[in-house]
Amino acid sequence: MGIRKFRPDRLFDGKQFTPPGAVLVCDETGRVLDILTEEAAGAGAADVEVLPGILLPGLINCHCHLELSHLKGRVPENTGMVPFLLAVMQRRFDGPDLIFEAMQAADQAMYESGIVAVGDICNTSNSVAVKKQSRMNYVNFIEVSGFVPSGAHNRYEQAQSVLKAFESFTNPSIVPHAPYSVSRELFSLLPAAAVSTMHNQESPEENEFFLAGSGPFNDLYKAIGVDIGFFSPPHTTSLQAVLPYLPKAGNMILVHNTETSTNDIFAWQQLSALPRPWFCLCVRANQYINSSLPPVDLLQNSGHGLVLGTDSLASNHSLDLMAEVFTLLNHFPELPLERVLHWATLAGAEALGLDQYLGSFVKGKKPGLVLLQGQRSKRIL
Ligand SMILES: [Zn+2]
Repeated sequence: MGIRKFRPDRLFDGKQFTPPGAVLVCDETGRVLDILTEEAAGAGAADVEVLPGILLPGLINCHCHLELSHLKGRVPENTGMVPFLLAVMQRRFDGPDLIFEAMQAADQAMYESGIVAVGDICNTSNSVAVKKQSRMNYVNFIEVSGFVPSGAHNRYEQAQSVLKAFESFTNPSIVPHAPYSVSRELFSLLPAAAVSTMHNQESPEENEFFLAGSGPFNDLYKAIGVDIGFFSPPHTTSLQAVLPYLPKAGNMILVHNTETSTNDIFAWQQLSALPRPWFCLCVRANQYINSSLPPVDLLQNSGHGLVLGTDSLASNHSLDLMAEVFTLLNHFPELPLERVLHWATLAGAEALGLDQYLGSFVKGKKPGLVLLQGQRSKRIL
């Protein structure tokens, strides 16, 4: 098998930039064989491919909804959370051909931009066919919701039937949608999973609903005809309200976290048996829905891992993880590029349980090779 040697302007190995002049050595399938110094690789030798730009491992998109790809450009921006949710519910069912073609195009665009793995939320089995043909690795999260306690068993059974459609993929799991949409009864039915995920504290209205029982989430349930007269607010934030019902082990990727506070993180740390949290940032979706941003400093200082996601084309203009990187850097210019690239690669692979194979240039891994030029990334191997 042939050997390829790449000498980029800078090499990022998944954790950090390597010393200048480093050469990545792979076999022709992209399996990493070594990282050599310029001298050891024979600088200037004809077999060294010089790449203008930063070479990095394949990108990991920890939060997406491929099945919503047909909603691109069809959900108004800056409406706030509840109008956004209602707009998605009204428009999510479209012709199957349209849905299929939109997913295929989104899958292809993600691949070309250098994404190698996707943590993908599934409410239906619509995405199975596209994922079977995809060149990316999908971790499928079968999402369940249902706030009415008496409906818990039915909702769980529906999720199990969607799960069956994903049986040919590695480790699909059933995951809760969000604190405001899953009853305690439904939470308690969810089996342990190595990796789970949940939308968390995406809007101030979510915390208001739990702290005071007031606000637009009441309008949401009214609009969809669900009587929530049984609900008495626990007078805590939404995350603190559901902590006792979360799985007791594994990874838990908490998505958005724009309203997460120091107290929430403290409350998490007080409970001994909980999953390992990963805070997933989807800043372009936060901007799209309600012009908000997550408290990046607070989340970083929590000592827990950060990862990145694109969310869906219902709340983003593209599924481009490098655009998430540079949007973060624009809003938080003190963040080092190196740290954000780590979130976009190795940290994401760890959160999704794929770091044995992906996320870094370590001997034996086949993480995908991505070239970053300016703010654009593309898959080169
Ligand atoms: Zn989402």
